[in-house]
Amino acid sequence: NRQILLDNRPEGEAVASNFKLVSTDTPALKDGEVLVRHHYLSLDPYMRGRMNDSKSYAASQPLGEVMIGGTVGEVVESKNPKFAVGDQVVGMGGWQEYSVVDGNAPGMLRKVDTTHVPLSHYLGAVGMPGVTAWYGLVKIIAPKEGNTLVVSAATGAVGSAFAALAKARGCRVVGIAGGPEKCKYAVDELHFDACIDYRQHPDVKTMSKALKDACPNGIDGYFENVGGYILDSVLLRTNAFARIALCGMIAGYDGAPLPLQNPALILVNRLMIQGFIVSEHMEVWPEALKELGTLVGTGKLKPRETVAQGIESAPEAFLGLLKGKNFGKQLVKLS
Ligand code: NDP
Repeated sequence: NRQILLDNRPEGEAVASNFKLVSTDTPALKDGEVLVRHHYLSLDPYMRGRMNDSKSYAASQPLGEVMIGGTVGEVVESKNPKFAVGDQVVGMGGWQEYSVVDGNAPGMLRKVDTTHVPLSHYLGAVGMPGVTAWYGLVKIIAPKEGNTLVVSAATGAVGSAFAALAKARGCRVVGIAGGPEKCKYAVDELHFDACIDYRQHPDVKTMSKALKDACPNGIDGYFENVGGYILDSVLLRTNAFARIALCGMIAGYDGAPLPLQNPALILVNRLMIQGFIVSEHMEVWPEALKELGTLVGTGKLKPRETVAQGIESAPEAFLGLLKGKNFGKQLVKLS
């Protein structure tokens, strides 16, 4: 069982030498446990925060242990009557090829149906990132038909699900993404009404002008994934009583400061800004997963994936995710 451990903590930007590849035997199963062979590992931006030991909403990743991570795979051995060999499952198996899981622990392992939804999508659109988009849209932005909504990191796992969910509610949806290829894809394949390439608009002045052009009626709701000058630019274009779901600030995860230039706009435009962590809202997951599964099953949401090959490629793929090298959900295929 090859595993990636967190070997040491980043000083500034995360680097490949923060991780270490090791190989161990899988332990014999105790009663109630199952052995899962992972088919895919999910790489997610939150993992960067876990690499630090500073205080946050989630515990930091202990050194010398397998990196935390969502996985999908199949049961290859079972000492638990609830799981049979061959069952397809989603869990938090970590950056490794196999995991031993207590099948009785609540929420640790969930069987999934791959008849209409491919297994890998349970880590993306029909998994944690999809529910994240759903929560921010439905519970925080709570849009009305005809509202103009904006989302950053628009073509990623969360952003692409957000677009499908918002279009289904009759909204105008404008994306912000890095590069012409991602922006074209957002409009052509993800059904965004417009998409702004932030690399062509590298400051508040040009970005807020681009937002004005793309959102002639102003912005009623913003789903924030990035932070920094993009947030400042959006605030300038918000309508009175606009709602902002503060989901992520990836531009700052590797240590860059993200000062807010004009907080008075929150007062002037009477904005509601709400941060949230999707794992604290397990009550919405069944409803959200049902809608997301239907969108994928009916072809209304066709999630794109970037797939790295083999556990040894996980560190580089993860560092690439923090720099926007992924195009859609970043996964690692485990052989
Ligand atoms: P993505 O698939 O969107 O991948 C990350 C993307 O972020 C990159 O592709 C890149 O897109 C963009 N990005 C990276 N660095 C920068 C930068 N410096 N400036 C601007 N954009 C950048 O990831 P996810 O969909 O998994 O996650 C999106 C966001 O949602 C993250 O901020 C994440 O932390 C947050 N999140 C929050 C959760 C919660 O519970 N609050 C749960 C899950 C995710 P591009 O090339 O277009 O810039």
